[in-house]
Amino acid sequence: MSNDVSPAQANSTDDSNVYFRCFAGCEGKHSIYEVIYRCPKCNSLLEVHHEREPLKKRNAYKWQQLFDSRSSTTNWPYGSGVWGQREWVIPSLRDENVVSMCEGNTNLFWANRLGKQLGLNDLWIKLCGNSHTGSFKDLGMTVLVSVVKQMMGMPNNPVKAVACASTGDTSAALAAYAAYAGIPAIIFLPAGKVSTAQLIQPVSNGAHVLALDTDFDGCMKIVQEVTEDSSIYLANSMNSLRIEGQKTVGIEIVRQFDWEAPDWIVIPVGNLGNISALHKGFQLMMDLGVINKMPRLVAAQAAQADPFYQSYSNDFSGKTSVTAGETLANAIRIGDPVSYEKAVKAVQDTNGIVERATENELAAAAAKADLTGMFCCPHTGVALAVLEKLVKRGVIKPDDRTVVISTAHGLKFTDFKVGYHESKLDGVESEHANPPVYLDASAAKVKEVIKQRLGL
Ligand SMILES: *Cc1c(COP(=O)(O)O)cnc(C)c1O
Ligand SMILES: [Zn+2]
Repeated sequence: MSNDVSPAQANSTDDSNVYFRCFAGCEGKHSIYEVIYRCPKCNSLLEVHHEREPLKKRNAYKWQQLFDSRSSTTNWPYGSGVWGQREWVIPSLRDENVVSMCEGNTNLFWANRLGKQLGLNDLWIKLCGNSHTGSFKDLGMTVLVSVVKQMMGMPNNPVKAVACASTGDTSAALAAYAAYAGIPAIIFLPAGKVSTAQLIQPVSNGAHVLALDTDFDGCMKIVQEVTEDSSIYLANSMNSLRIEGQKTVGIEIVRQFDWEAPDWIVIPVGNLGNISALHKGFQLMMDLGVINKMPRLVAAQAAQADPFYQSYSNDFSGKTSVTAGETLANAIRIGDPVSYEKAVKAVQDTNGIVERATENELAAAAAKADLTGMFCCPHTGVALAVLEKLVKRGVIKPDDRTVVISTAHGLKFTDFKVGYHESKLDGVESEHANPPVYLDASAAKVKEVIKQRLGL
């Protein structure tokens, strides 16, 4: 263990160096324990700002050592990939208020066989779905719910419950972390537009699940009205506390590469919180001298819900909103992305790219990756299909170190897998379908099939 972090420093309740500020640049600081989601002057999103000077008191190498030393500890709460970076997240959170189920520290593995098929020698998959509720949303929720827990212990606290609108994974994470902390959660879902697994998670965790006859963007409008009263705290990613947790994934990737940034990161995007978070983590590491180059970020959209792609195609001359069409990648079925301005900055600052994939492309990409041992959710399929396009176009080169962020666990999307292998998905060719063979229990018949299939 590194011994240069005194308990007082690690567990300080002083938050004067970490506060909300307006993302568009208005003057003013707000406590992160205040119930506030937008700039009171211009209505822009807020961001949690960490003043750099105090952080620079520890040099880059010392930061690396400190985070390395915590990476698999059981010393509360540092075993969490998020809280192992506590000083860069919410340093003023007290140990007893950390609501963590040891999220993060997910595997980053070399996808050698898949990479070879795509023409890449250095392809890596960051499996964020190997987390408590099966998606990266856990990273943001541990932070948000922890801050709420600390708020609820403060004098004159108005907050009694947490709420979110969700395409499925946000609600699963919120419900789990709220239940762990004993805080009531209210979930707004678009009825019939989330997978069975995604619906049953908040139900099991005891949340108040309200399935509305609208789409995600419709749920988002309702939750914003319901949370105008500060007794119900808004847990969507327009609440920038979520971004603080999610930004740790980029830092974790760099740590896993022995503190070197990759050349490319491909990430599926919908509401645009996660790519903003990724960029924020890299920006912090650049400012502190922990890395010396930015990776190029690739935002991957489903063609059925591609407002960010359309904005990018217009050189970001203005925000485009669409009515999101039906897509297998339901967690990114979003037509009016909340974190648009932050994501534009993420793409522009990193010389990034936005590309999109059709239903057939995303399903084929996921199926092909599965044949190399993965079990991809449809969103990861979107990222892989986009990756394939950029390699074919010669933008991503064979030796570029490339990371694909796999955002959820494939087991949350078995309807998608079953539909694919039964060749029953609309607009999808199921080229790689591999349905089971049903046979009589006869050794002779079995031998015949093995001979047919394997020549053995
Ligand atoms: C939430 C989610 C995304 C998109 O993240 P945004 O922050 O909305 O852009 C992608 N994939 C999965 C599985 C998700 O749950
Ligand atoms: Zn402002």
